[in-house]
Amino acid sequence: MRNRNLANRLISEGYLRSRRIIRAFQKIDRKLFVLRPEEACLDHPLPIPGGQTISAPHMVAIMLELLEPKKTDSILEIGAGSGYSAALLGTLAKKVTSIEVDKVLVAFAKRNLKKAKIKNVIVIHGDGSLGFPKAAPYDKIIFTCAVPKIPKAVISQLKYPGLLLAPVGGEFYQDLILLRKKSGKLKKENHGGCVFVPLRKVRKFL
Ligand code: SAH
Repeated sequence: MRNRNLANRLISEGYLRSRRIIRAFQKIDRKLFVLRPEEACLDHPLPIPGGQTISAPHMVAIMLELLEPKKTDSILEIGAGSGYSAALLGTLAKKVTSIEVDKVLVAFAKRNLKKAKIKNVIVIHGDGSLGFPKAAPYDKIIFTCAVPKIPKAVISQLKYPGLLLAPVGGEFYQDLILLRKKSGKLKKENHGGCVFVPLRKVRKFL
């Protein structure tokens, strides 16, 4: 199956709805971000270095539709992994900062983003539970690893108005939580169950 067929399948299953997000999925070839290109068009999570996974395309589609990325947005991602979701966000937003705790994956994501010719995504080696204050505040923040609780330090780096999306829960099951920061208030929405790899605790700064 080709990348375009994967996008068409996500449209027909109702995961992809917005014109700009559909175009991003058609443009960014998942083959460039996986270890075995022949598996790239399967709608499954797939292994990437460091025992981590690239998320299933339908899950990435659900998350991007909820995040509503705009051309003018500055976005923070926690968990660069393969760089795939960062690449999609890069085509949809002005600037993306993606934090990754694993050095090997920082190099993997950077290499893949270069292959995909994405130039507005910066991959930072660091601990995502602290966010990245240097480039804050952000219009949107997305966690692609699971957290037991959304760190306050990261919420404080979100603009008014702003959206933050995170899988919140235990090791094996989480709820996809969307926080809307509006006129000083935080509104919480639950968008259902999901399974992500957990955020790794970093004892001292890298
Ligand atoms: N968005 C990725 C999938 C990420 S999987 C993609 O499209 O491929 C989750 C990622 O979160 C893993 O790469 C993992 O190394 C990273 N991660 C785990 N704990 C982290 C932390 N404390 N800070 C930053 N990244 C972290």
